[in-house]
Amino acid sequence: MSNIPTREAAIHMFTGRRVPITLVRGEGTRIWDSDGKEYLDFIAGISSDTLGHADAGLADAISEQARTLIHVSNIFYSEPQIELGELLIANSALDRVFFCNSGAEANEAAIKLARKWGIQNRDGGYEIISTNNSFHGRTLTTVAATGTAAYREPFGPPTPGFVFVNYDNIEQLREATTTRTAAIMLEPVQGEGGVNVPASDYLQQVRAWCDEQGILLILDEIQTGMGRAGTLWAYEQAGIEPDIMTSAKGLAGGVPIGAVLAKEHASVFVPGDHGSTFGGNPLATAAGAHVMHRLLEGGVLENAKARGKQLQRRLASLEDRHALVSGERGIGLLRGLELESDMAVDVANAAREAGLLVNPVRPDVVRFMPPLTVTEAEIDQAVDIVEAVLDSLEQS
Ligand code: PLP
Repeated sequence: MSNIPTREAAIHMFTGRRVPITLVRGEGTRIWDSDGKEYLDFIAGISSDTLGHADAGLADAISEQARTLIHVSNIFYSEPQIELGELLIANSALDRVFFCNSGAEANEAAIKLARKWGIQNRDGGYEIISTNNSFHGRTLTTVAATGTAAYREPFGPPTPGFVFVNYDNIEQLREATTTRTAAIMLEPVQGEGGVNVPASDYLQQVRAWCDEQGILLILDEIQTGMGRAGTLWAYEQAGIEPDIMTSAKGLAGGVPIGAVLAKEHASVFVPGDHGSTFGGNPLATAAGAHVMHRLLEGGVLENAKARGKQLQRRLASLEDRHALVSGERGIGLLRGLELESDMAVDVANAAREAGLLVNPVRPDVVRFMPPLTVTEAEIDQAVDIVEAVLDSLEQS
């Protein structure tokens, strides 16, 4: 177990800086490093550990499935895949699902679907309008769809057919729409971009514009979905429905999975158009079905909603008492603390020292995304730690 950073440096491709701790064990919202230090985990696998760590029910569902059947490929039917698919369709506005293994793969499938739909229904038009600061994944086509140029520039010509406009700007969307446009692709709240919450009528206006133009709305709910928003899907709070939606991250509580869902009219794949060896395999979908049951019948969704409000209240209250804090934003249990200066890394480092894991998503924004099972006392404890950190940073 020793020297993990040195051993990693000798063998891994260096694709990103790591926080200098090795995490070895978790329980609920708590997690321990290899020195035995305990933390409150308000990163939760970047919004993925829906039920917290080492959840007994999820562990049972996974191990029972592992002892029964881990994988069969999509040449055959499998029961867990049908169960999770039916749960997703019954509890969303979408009619059809395709399973894959990650968020990027789900968005790849969504993009393929929208392009095929556009070629068939928009006279060959396959352009997708995406937004600046969006994040849709790291495959070649999902970086082409991602509104951060640095992620695509080193890799040669990007997949063509993407146009970028500012997020939360309906006028730019309207101006960018042409006969070539097949779809608009958005996150209901931008996660990696900095927990950017649009105006309350933005999604409704985008939906109305898509209807008027006869183009598709793709919502990337990979970070906001599966209860993170305080509702099962963030779009519910806007009172709209997407034509295509993607999910991943929290869908199976930390087991790799992805899904693209579509309305019947947008569901244009035919046999041979798309596929995946592991996509929707029995192990991942048994985990996903367990997570869905716990969200819907186990009180987890209600908890996420209540705890989201509590976290919002407590983070918002910091602004009055701390010169370093300029505000708070977010949805449900995906929240950002806005700082007056670029001190998010300092806050996250000091919080970690004090036993709280939070993510400096932007130089001036600290992101909070605890498991949806987080308790009232844990939210209070986490914000108390942040307060103490702010006190000491303000004094130094
Ligand atoms: N879309 C959104 C909104 C995301 O937040 C992410 C990951 O952060 C992705 C797509 C990519 O998901 P993955 O890392 O599973 O490929």
